Order: sequence, then structure tokens, then C-alpha cells
Amino acid sequence: MAKYDNAKAMRELRKRRKERKLCTRCGKPVFGENVQCDACREYCKMYALLHPKEKVIIRNLKSWEVKNKKLYDILINKRITIPQLAQMIGVSARSVDRWVFEGSLPKIENREKVNTYLNIEVFELD
Ligand SMILES: [Zn+2]
Repeated sequence: MAKYDNAKAMRELRKRRKERKLCTRCGKPVFGENVQCDACREYCKMYALLHPKEKVIIRNLKSWEVKNKKLYDILINKRITIPQLAQMIGVSARSVDRWVFEGSLPKIENREKVNTYLNIEVFELD
């Protein structure tokens, strides 16, 4: 129930922003016909590449950019999505989002698992 109310509140917020010509995602002014600012559109494109099944992006991440470019590029090149990597490592997709988009560092055992699974030293282990 709480989840539904939250989704509804977000929809209403986006609608109000759209009417006021503000980015529906971050609230900054937008010009022309776009409903999102350039930075948010770019971010959503990058995010969607790693979350192909999620049509609506509702997660609020702390940063709006790719913080771990190395991991991001490897996933893109190997065509591995964030939910897939999360499943292989045994963590939530939200955790992997934090590694890629917020630059947070996984626990040592997960760093090892990522390196082993991807067969590249993504994370230093010391
Ligand atoms: Zn924006």
C-alpha cells in the first residue's frame, strides 16, 4: 500500500513538473519539447542499457553519472545486465547500481567474485 502511494505521488510530481516545463526527473528547467533535461536523458539511456527490462526508471540514485566506468564498459561490452551480474554475485541489483552509478565499493568477497566472474580485475583486492 505504501509502495502504491509513493508511485502515485511520484506520478503527480512528474505531472506538475511537466506542466511547469521542469525536468520530470530532477526538476531543473527544460527547453523545447523534452520532458527531461539533457543530463537526465543521457543518464536514463545509460541506465536502461544495463536494465533492459525496466521500462520506468523510478530509482533515485545519488549521482547522475557512471562512477565506475570500467565496470560499466565491461558490462556493456560483454552484454551483461545489472540484474544478471547481481544474480551471479548473489547481491541485489540495487547494490550493483551503487557500484556502477554511485561508485561504492563492494565487500572484498564480492570484489573477488566480480573479478572472477568477469575474468578481469575490475576491483583491486587490497
Ligand atoms: Zn533532469
